[in-house]
Amino acid sequence: MRKTPLYLAVLERLKSKSKPVSVPELLVSLETSLQPNKSTLYRLLERLGVEGLVERVLLDNKTAFYELKRHHHHHFVCEDCETIECVSDDGLEAKIHDLENHLSSRGLKIKAHQFSFSGLCAACQ
Ligand SMILES: [Zn+2]
Ligand SMILES: [Zn+2]
Ligand SMILES: [Zn+2]
Repeated sequence: MRKTPLYLAVLERLKSKSKPVSVPELLVSLETSLQPNKSTLYRLLERLGVEGLVERVLLDNKTAFYELKRHHHHHFVCEDCETIECVSDDGLEAKIHDLENHLSSRGLKIKAHQFSFSGLCAACQ
């Protein structure tokens, strides 16, 4: 994929964030000179996903969030303001891995797991 100024700027924005961002948030953070229309930005994020650079975070709420593909982890999402926090815990993953082994011994082929925490963030309580 051609590394257009928009491509580089979007990667840069995602790199500077420690949590997933929505398309509206991304649009606000981009310089006026780069302002793409929404569908261009969605297409770009789609391509970045195919290239394995960006991950689309699927949560119960309807908004799509994107973050730089780093190591596997989970998320907390606030029911009120939809703020998201990344959650990772090696002990949890080890436990899940055990469970996945158990499931495969029962003949299930596990490819991935996903779950998220929901509740209220500090500001919304
Ligand atoms: Zn909140
Ligand atoms: Zn995350
Ligand atoms: Zn996990």
